[in-house]
Amino acid sequence: MPELRLGNLTLHAHHGKNLLDTLLAQGQSVPWSCRGGYCHTCLIQAQPGQAPAEACHMLTTEQREAGWLLSCQCPVVQDMDLRLHDPARDDLSAEVVSVTPVDNVVILRLRPERPLRFLPGQHLALWLDSQLGRPYSIASLPGEPWLEFHIRRHASGAFSRAAADLSAGDKLFLGSPTGALQYDPDWQDRPLLLLAAGTGLAPLQAILRHALESGHEAPIELWHWSTSDCYLENRLGELADQHSQLTVKLQRRSTLADDIRQLRIASRRTMALICGDPGFVEHLRKPLFFAGLPGRQVLDEAFHSRPQ
Ligand SMILES: Cc1cc2nc3c(=O)[nH]c(=O)nc-3n(C[C@H](O)[C@H](O)[C@H](O)COP(=O)(O)OP(=O)(O)OC[C@H]3O[C@@H](n4cnc5c(N)ncnc54)[C@H](O)[C@@H]3O)c2cc1C
Repeated sequence: MPELRLGNLTLHAHHGKNLLDTLLAQGQSVPWSCRGGYCHTCLIQAQPGQAPAEACHMLTTEQREAGWLLSCQCPVVQDMDLRLHDPARDDLSAEVVSVTPVDNVVILRLRPERPLRFLPGQHLALWLDSQLGRPYSIASLPGEPWLEFHIRRHASGAFSRAAADLSAGDKLFLGSPTGALQYDPDWQDRPLLLLAAGTGLAPLQAILRHALESGHEAPIELWHWSTSDCYLENRLGELADQHSQLTVKLQRRSTLADDIRQLRIASRRTMALICGDPGFVEHLRKPLFFAGLPGRQVLDEAFHSRPQ
């Protein structure tokens, strides 16, 4: 039975059993959210070399070298010396600049204590305290004076409700940016199809702005489906006025199935990027494939939430 040493506690685990489940079952308060390896809220530090590869391959080289692992992805296969993640000690702090509600979305702007390196389209874990953290896509671009996030309010959502009550000057903590939903400068002459539902628009409008700033000349079509008016309608309208290669289609979620049937792929070289809730992302994959886009030309990110 492998031993888990945590501070001055020694716990015992069944060989091969999941580390997060083992710690929770033995009364340790380890934060977690998606349990799929996407959100990075269940980080735990082990001694370098103790983490199995499957528990850390989604982390940065720096994180891996420092022994960090995702406990939801970690089978216990040997003795481990562990330290729980503490956002106040391990992460970057940030101050709230503004909190702007727009319909059911909160636009949150933060000023990190020092500049954060990230690529447009990436996401990071936002922490309100040592237990309450969730991943959110960065909606701003590097070099802008604040970090922006678009947080959809859920009636019983622990983080999204608390985010709506934040005020200027409040403090949060920022995990490391991660994620593969990004614009590649080699795509400059390829049509882009950006497909977003709800706050899935956050990373896709960042990627859109990055592409336009990088001189993307081929046609770009951005579709956004929402249950109410698009919360960024004005911003997207201004961009479309300024860039003739950009077409913006703001649709209601109720028309999604019809809209997908009418989607036309402009060229076999089109790159499609999809972001939104898991049901939306799943719904779009097959039609794009049947419309002639091979899997390698489709990048997607699903906003997996905490399972009940
Ligand atoms: C990589 C990644 C990036 C993300 N980026 C964003 C982003 O930019 N903006 C954003 O708004 N969200 C984003 N999310 C989702 C976000 O992390 C939270 O899951 C979401 O805000 C709900 O958190 P909560 O604490 O408010 O709700 P929780 O307390 O976690 O859940 C409370 C209840 O709300 C339900 N619930 C949660 N989410 C949904 C949903 N989408 N639809 C229906 N019911 C739901 C839960 O099932 C539960 O019943 C992202 C998720 C991932 C994995």
